Amino acid sequence: VTERLVVIGGDAGGLTAATQARRRRPDLEIVALEKGRWISYSACGIPYVVGGTVDELDDLVVLSPDALHAKYDVDVRTRHEATSLDLDRREVEVRDHAAGRTYKLPFDILQIGTGATPMRPELPGINDEHIHGVANLEDAAHLLDHVGGNAPPGGGRAVVVGGGYIGLEMAEAFLHRGWTRVTVVEQAPEVMGTLDPDMGALVSQAMRDEGIDVRCGTKVTGFEPGVVHTDAGPIEHDLVVLGLGVVPNTALAREAGLETGARHAIKVDRRQRTSADGVWAAGDCCLSFHRVSETWVHIALGTVANKQGRVAGINIGGGYATFPGVVGTAVTKLCSLEVARTGLNEREAKEAGFEHEAVTIESTTRAGYYPGAGKITVKLLAERRSGRLLGGQLVGFEGAAKRIDVLATALTARMTVEEMTALDLSYAPPFSPVWDPVLVAARKAAERLA
Ligand SMILES: Cc1cc2nc3c(=O)[nH]c(=O)nc-3n(C[C@H](O)[C@H](O)[C@H](O)COP(=O)(O)OP(=O)(O)OC[C@H]3O[C@@H](n4cnc5c(N)ncnc54)[C@H](O)[C@@H]3O)c2cc1C
Repeated sequence: VTERLVVIGGDAGGLTAATQARRRRPDLEIVALEKGRWISYSACGIPYVVGGTVDELDDLVVLSPDALHAKYDVDVRTRHEATSLDLDRREVEVRDHAAGRTYKLPFDILQIGTGATPMRPELPGINDEHIHGVANLEDAAHLLDHVGGNAPPGGGRAVVVGGGYIGLEMAEAFLHRGWTRVTVVEQAPEVMGTLDPDMGALVSQAMRDEGIDVRCGTKVTGFEPGVVHTDAGPIEHDLVVLGLGVVPNTALAREAGLETGARHAIKVDRRQRTSADGVWAAGDCCLSFHRVSETWVHIALGTVANKQGRVAGINIGGGYATFPGVVGTAVTKLCSLEVARTGLNEREAKEAGFEHEAVTIESTTRAGYYPGAGKITVKLLAERRSGRLLGGQLVGFEGAAKRIDVLATALTARMTVEEMTALDLSYAPPFSPVWDPVLVAARKAAERLA
């Protein structure tokens, strides 16, 4: 009898598992359900379409349903939404939005990759049609319908609520598109809450220097058509984007009785198995093990979703793979600045029970005399007793960001800052000073600990 794998969610967490399973199990019947019109897309590219750097949403699509079917023999059903799950009967209730009918789809194996949705706090007026969350191409299409080809008459006033990386990337996108008044409202003392406030302050300032009105320490209290109300007064707008972070899409899983953890994300083991037999999960809907804090956390990133999906798919296909976890690495480009972080920030280090030292250095992205050399600030955290690297943050100009990968690798290898000082990193004037900025920071941290 042919076994059927049903996949819920047509992006990284769902389809990476489907394609990996197919490589090992040519015999499986695979049905993928996606409630939207698009599958296999890069949501990460949305700000660049809104800003006009990338031409259109279709450019963000990796595989069409037809291409996925032809290449991997997956029965892709777009505009088909899983509306409930019965784990005892092993069936999914599906709403076919195009045909306007509901049907039951039995499964032997289930892969959940339902992703996450932008957080919408319960504030008056939050459901106004001018308040946009941006999580997938459907959201982006809806936003682009409102934004139109050019800025509205009078220049266009956009308000971004929340200063996380998605909110800030969207703020920059509006600036690129020619909107003249772009405001970011952030409750915390600085934007980019995944950084420490001293590093976040560099980002707030850089955004202001580019002409974005960044209002930190300001709380949104409600919305009315055309107005965002804050505790520091009203802000008029033509459009609002929410950048308050995301919540995992796990209502289906929870109602079916699957175990969840932090932020109601689905609990998985290191092979991506959920608490129910034959049910797997990957991506923004589930938890990840943090290799530094050694806790289960919810981190919604495409890098993680693809890796977890691959592991789930190999296991579903009868192979053996594990996902050892994340170290919390993320990177973004905001106006002329590159911003990156990995491991734990100071708050997270304290919460995880580490006693740490923090050092910050300033250097340049290339040899100081070489054209294009720009400033880079590096902050490192190390455990006081052992000297082990706990985390790193970078803010700098072109060439800064990918240095975070050295720090992520050092974290994975559980290196001490002293060991890092001897890393044989490359050098030539167009790429770095003779002491790369991460080595300068490691030296300062080692000296501090000594
Ligand atoms: C603007 C933006 C920028 C980003 N930038 C980066 C970046 O630079 N780097 C990075 O690593 N990550 C980035 N991310 C995050 C990254 O896009 C996500 O982590 C990744 O897409 C998660 O993949 P996923 O498959 O778990 O979830 P999703 O991509 O959200 O896919 C889940 C899919 O499931 C579908 N679905 C949900 N419920 C159902 C249901 N009941 N029935 C059928 N279908 C359903 C949804 O419609 C959706 O298509 C960004 C995200 C956004 C929004």
